[in-house]
Amino acid sequence: MAATRSTIKSLLRDGQPGSDVHVAGWVRTRRDSKQGFSFIELNDGSCMANLQIVVDAATPGYEDAIRRVTTGASLRIVGTLRESPGSKQRVELHASTFDVLGEADPAKYPLQKKGHSFEFLREIAHLRPRTNTFGAIARVRNCVSYSIHRFFQQRGFLYIHTPIITTSDCEGAGEMFQVTTLPLDRLAEGTPTKTVDYGHDFFGKRASLTVSGQLEGEIYATAVGPVYTFGPTFRAENSNTPRHLAEFWMVEPEMPFFDLDDNMALAEEFIKTIIQDALSECAEDMAFFNERIDKTVLATLTHILEHEFKRVSYTEAVDILLSAGRDWEYPVAWGHNLQAEHERFLTEQHFQQPIIVHDYPRTLKPFYMKCNDDGQTVRAMDVLVPRVGEIIGGSQREERLDVLLTRMGECNLDPAEYWWYGDLRRYGTVPHAGFGLGLERMLLLLTGMQNIRDVIPFPRTPRNADF
Ligand code: ATP
Ligand code: MN
Repeated sequence: MAATRSTIKSLLRDGQPGSDVHVAGWVRTRRDSKQGFSFIELNDGSCMANLQIVVDAATPGYEDAIRRVTTGASLRIVGTLRESPGSKQRVELHASTFDVLGEADPAKYPLQKKGHSFEFLREIAHLRPRTNTFGAIARVRNCVSYSIHRFFQQRGFLYIHTPIITTSDCEGAGEMFQVTTLPLDRLAEGTPTKTVDYGHDFFGKRASLTVSGQLEGEIYATAVGPVYTFGPTFRAENSNTPRHLAEFWMVEPEMPFFDLDDNMALAEEFIKTIIQDALSECAEDMAFFNERIDKTVLATLTHILEHEFKRVSYTEAVDILLSAGRDWEYPVAWGHNLQAEHERFLTEQHFQQPIIVHDYPRTLKPFYMKCNDDGQTVRAMDVLVPRVGEIIGGSQREERLDVLLTRMGECNLDPAEYWWYGDLRRYGTVPHAGFGLGLERMLLLLTGMQNIRDVIPFPRTPRNADF
């Protein structure tokens, strides 16, 4: 082989005219000229742009091989890089040999034409990463994941692996998926009470897929300092919205000696860092989203970077909504949850920038959030961004054992089940805080994509877990 294989990304950026190179990838298009040349647009997924391959009809084996070079076929090419006379690219590759590794029957390959709907592409989730849009999403998702790790690693946070299977319900944040080895349908039949005895199940008690790693994160945060978890999270909410998945990825930092203000500042810095990294490391893909998916994406992101997130108390937010002079589908009243329409009005129209809503009514929030002295509200915070709504939810945690126990009572939770969580307050309790960012919500913000099913490789939603 003339040269070790290069990625198209590196050739387009640094490749020197005159050098011998070896590339491999998939054909996007082929065009034959009357002057005795074929032009192949080759893509290997390393970047958005294709490499133009020029094949001289005089190349050995040309006649036989070129017929098999159709959209979707895989190729290995050895040749010499030349300065491109065209303005579209700096260099092009003049093939000396080319092998068709795998053909793609033009009569059958589903990605012949451009412009398939995202709905159709979801049905061929095994092929959609070969399109420009889904290739770009894969690269941005990778960049964001790395950026998340870098953000916390640079600040001395430990990456903690919290369990995926759990026997405690964190907050009742959503419906849980049960994990069992029991044949549930047959089980209850023969019993007098017709109820399942989980004592016989694999873990000896009812187990579920995690809805949050927070409680376990707190265990480590109150031992080794700031930590973060980053992994799959499961919620069996039967809500078919463009912003909910049954399986999504969540980043959950937890910081000892942090109060709500510290928490809000970190969340803001975190989101801005991810945006900055995506803009600088995936400039080509981000330009594509701005041109082809949503023409406002880059302007929105730049605007976010240039402004401080506005902090608004829940009570102030309700007042703004009440005096907005609008008809809401869901009525606004203090003590009611903010619905997506309210959140989007606040961030898109009223403030026109990200906001952090804090100090929610305690009746709306889980038991572990720190109670304010007013007896009415807790130290909760939600970060809301234009087009997406809630992207982060977090709080300062209740570190006082007596208050925590009272709150468990209010939420109908059995303190005995949370004995270990109580111990964190019994022994060396400290103020602490944390939040959760949904990775896919972040990707919706970055890419301008409308549907959360399109920013995760293999979406799981009600009645859908194919691929
Ligand atoms: P929502 O009100 O939008 O349903 P939530 O308040 O239930 O969200 P939290 O429990 O606060 O969500 O979870 C923290 C973050 O995880 C959210 O801010 C969001 O970014 C993300 N998230 C929550 N549920 C989902 C889901 N079903 N699919 C994708 N991301 C989610
Ligand atoms: Mn929330």
